[in-house]
Amino acid sequence: MKIVFHECYFNSGYATDPAAAEGRLDGIMASIESKPEWYEIITPDTASEADILRAHGRNHYENIKADPLLYELAALAAGGAIKAAETAYEGEPAFAVIRPPGHHASANSCWGFCYFNNMSISLLKLFSEKKIEKAFVLDFDLHTGDGNINILRNRNDGFEVFILNPLSSERRDYLREVEEYMNNLADVDIFAASAGFDQGIEDWGALLYPEDYTNLGRLMKEHSERICKGRRYAILEGGYNHDVIGLNTDAFCIGFG
Ligand SMILES: [Zn+2]
Repeated sequence: MKIVFHECYFNSGYATDPAAAEGRLDGIMASIESKPEWYEIITPDTASEADILRAHGRNHYENIKADPLLYELAALAAGGAIKAAETAYEGEPAFAVIRPPGHHASANSCWGFCYFNNMSISLLKLFSEKKIEKAFVLDFDLHTGDGNINILRNRNDGFEVFILNPLSSERRDYLREVEEYMNNLADVDIFAASAGFDQGIEDWGALLYPEDYTNLGRLMKEHSERICKGRRYAILEGGYNHDVIGLNTDAFCIGFG
């Protein structure tokens, strides 16, 4: 499967928060580069102003742009999400190893280590090109992606997005909640995951084991194949234990790819 990555994502100088911490992506890329027969790394372009303004107000865009390094990296992360979405649309599953994350960025504000809403920017690009009309977003980060919800839910332009933030506090119930939701899905054009790994058993949320991430990936694969020709992609959100984030990302991709 395809991994979207750019060397610039290693640059941790844009902020001092946990998502920007030095070394956060090293474990992920080490696990990916150890399996060249399974993963192919592809490089994204920077998202354009027009791409970003589909999801954000002009003032928010200009506020981020006032910090040149932050803007460069946030626009490149959004471009990574777009690359993953386009790859998925063309028929190949993709995982975007990007930062800064995006699911707490709303149209005119942001918090939680996020600046531009990578998920919304990527989906709205495909929608603007009339490639998709309905999408499903599974957000399995520990934290509810309020930015995804604020931008993507209840739109008035004909784009319909179903978003699941599982709430179960027991791991088997969590998987069951995701499966039941997907069983009731029909008629969407693409599956996307806001893939945070801070719900991991050795991370902040202390809930999901690596095999649970494999099962989440497998559910995404099976149901996207049932509904929308297997079109599916995932983009990195949270996940802060550098010792295990590579293991958990690989576990997810084993089921997903
Ligand atoms: Zn989180």
